[in-house]
Amino acid sequence: MTEAQAGRIGIMGGTFDPIHYGHLVVAEAAREAFSLEKIIFVPAGIPPHKAKEEVTPARHRYLMTLLAIMSNPYFEISRVDLDRGGVTYTVDTLADLKSQLPPAVQMYFITGADAILEILSWKSPDQVLSMAEFIAVTRPGYGLDQLSQAIGPLYAEFRDRIHILEVPPVGLSSTGLRRRLVEGRSIRYLVPETVVAYINNEGLYGTSPER
Ligand code: ATP
Ligand code: MG
Repeated sequence: MTEAQAGRIGIMGGTFDPIHYGHLVVAEAAREAFSLEKIIFVPAGIPPHKAKEEVTPARHRYLMTLLAIMSNPYFEISRVDLDRGGVTYTVDTLADLKSQLPPAVQMYFITGADAILEILSWKSPDQVLSMAEFIAVTRPGYGLDQLSQAIGPLYAEFRDRIHILEVPPVGLSSTGLRRRLVEGRSIRYLVPETVVAYINNEGLYGTSPER
């Protein structure tokens, strides 16, 4: 394994509703492949494409994320998007994190294939791409072959800052997990046990609270 390089930090943004092994596998794979010092998980406030009511309250998503990452000494969590409140735009996430990190730090923003393919619809995509290097990871069901075509001129300008990383495929999504829970099905072994317990204790996603 390569040594961590001082000043390289991975940023893993997401709604984490709930966090699952796909997120964790991706973050660990990126840390190793890019010799990142650590990965900061950043639970989003309200994602731009979702209404507030559709998203589980921030305190639950924050705590589930914290429970999921706790056992990995290289994983951290940040509240920047929750403390800013409202709709989360990555350009603000990166600006806030940058102001908290030492000036020489190079941020690596990690996204799944589905997310990066939509970067043109983000707020200020060119600013986002100039603030951080991007690690675009493979995700089952989404192809990265179309990336250069999908993001056109941005790709031409920023291609040196967009790194494609193949990661062990994990065919999980939070949407799929929420659906399973609503149907009363098991999510054991799909998310960390601590997260399963939290969901059951709090009665999230239509589960009945345990007493
Ligand atoms: P939802 O179904 O609610 O959108 P999700 O599983 O896509 O949930 P997000 O919180 O939206 O999870 O994702 C955060 C980041 O993790 C995004 O960049 C997304 O592309 C990436 N990601 C999520 N699941 C996977 C996976 N199984 N493999 C690779 N990347 C993933
Ligand atoms: Mg998603």
